[in-house]
Amino acid sequence: MTTYVHSDLDVSAAKVVASGQALYPAEARTSAATAIALHPNTSPMSEADRAKILENPGFGQYFSDNVVRARWNKAQGWTAGELISSATSSGGFGMNALHYGQSIFEGLKAYRHEDGSIYTFRPEANALRFQRSATRLALPPVPTDLFIGAIEALVSQDQAWVPNDPDKSLYLRPLEFGSENALGVRPSLEVTYVLMACPVGAYFPQGVKPVSVWLSDDYVRAAPGGTGEAKCAGNYAASLVAQAEATENGCDQVVWIDANERKYIEEMGGMNMFFVYGSGNSARLVTPKLTGTLLPGVTRDSILTLARDLGYEVEEGTISVEQWREGCASGEITETFACGTAAVITPVGRVDSKNSGAWTIADGGSGDVTMKLRAALVDIQTGRAPDTHNWLHRLV
Ligand SMILES: *Cc1c(COP(=O)(O)O)cnc(C)c1O
Repeated sequence: MTTYVHSDLDVSAAKVVASGQALYPAEARTSAATAIALHPNTSPMSEADRAKILENPGFGQYFSDNVVRARWNKAQGWTAGELISSATSSGGFGMNALHYGQSIFEGLKAYRHEDGSIYTFRPEANALRFQRSATRLALPPVPTDLFIGAIEALVSQDQAWVPNDPDKSLYLRPLEFGSENALGVRPSLEVTYVLMACPVGAYFPQGVKPVSVWLSDDYVRAAPGGTGEAKCAGNYAASLVAQAEATENGCDQVVWIDANERKYIEEMGGMNMFFVYGSGNSARLVTPKLTGTLLPGVTRDSILTLARDLGYEVEEGTISVEQWREGCASGEITETFACGTAAVITPVGRVDSKNSGAWTIADGGSGDVTMKLRAALVDIQTGRAPDTHNWLHRLV
């Protein structure tokens, strides 16, 4: 059995400064053929039942047959992962994560290519972000080889769950939480890492459709010094009431504004945002810079690179609500989109708010630049375009 030697919170790579490229260095991309002990589900779902689910998987409703679990404790550090039935669940009501929210997660996907092979996209970037989230939440970082080794083992075991359709994929959900049963408010002395997988369908079954957004004037997602940069459970719990307000106001999604000045756009729900100025080859893209209160998206980072490849000028800067509204009114801003692993790229077509009025985006949101970038990214992920940046990691 492999034991991962890892001191408590010492993860120098995880302390890389959050600025664009430097966040995700092209570190060694060796295969993480980690020793994951295999104890797979002895009664996996029948082929017929699985086929029915894969036809219309929705998002996160069905889980594949297995998960990978690894445990950490203060005395021994990380122990090797084991692949076990996804029906296994353990823990108690006293778990630290339930009471105090010491819990973080990740999200990435496995894509089946036309020749049947299966790849994931930039897993070392998710591993690094997971380590940074862990550091912020006083959890022991999961070593990169355990993180990627778990993905390799699970997708290899449950490969029949990776849909055979370029519009669908297998969503991978790494989760780490304090699993000690003890009510003291302190970092948990026992921690569990779990990787689970859900088949997911096209986010837009009827084709890419622009969303409407509600500016959150009353609720703040993240403040300087807080946990905005970490993918931690509490951020999402705190966002639900704002999302409900957006829904009540007839909007699909929330857009968050900075906590200090209540003026600058930060992100949309669980996605980063891009604003397109001008059109055609002379288009210029602006995305809010990573100030410490934004979640540094892997999709955002990839789009910055692909936009430069396509010859667009790109800028990580600031954009205020007023600049967004006036830019749309003058026609200077032609497109706005949000991006993230789940939905890839979502055009924004309409904005509404309590304090800043309502407006629409020139071309209804599904403009040229948005769709070009979407195609460039999806084509790499699904193997239809060359992987020029060495972003794909073969799993099967
Ligand atoms: C996960 C997430 C994103 C997008 O990150 P990706 O790595 O591109 O999937 C953006 N914002 C928030 C708040 C998120 O949780």
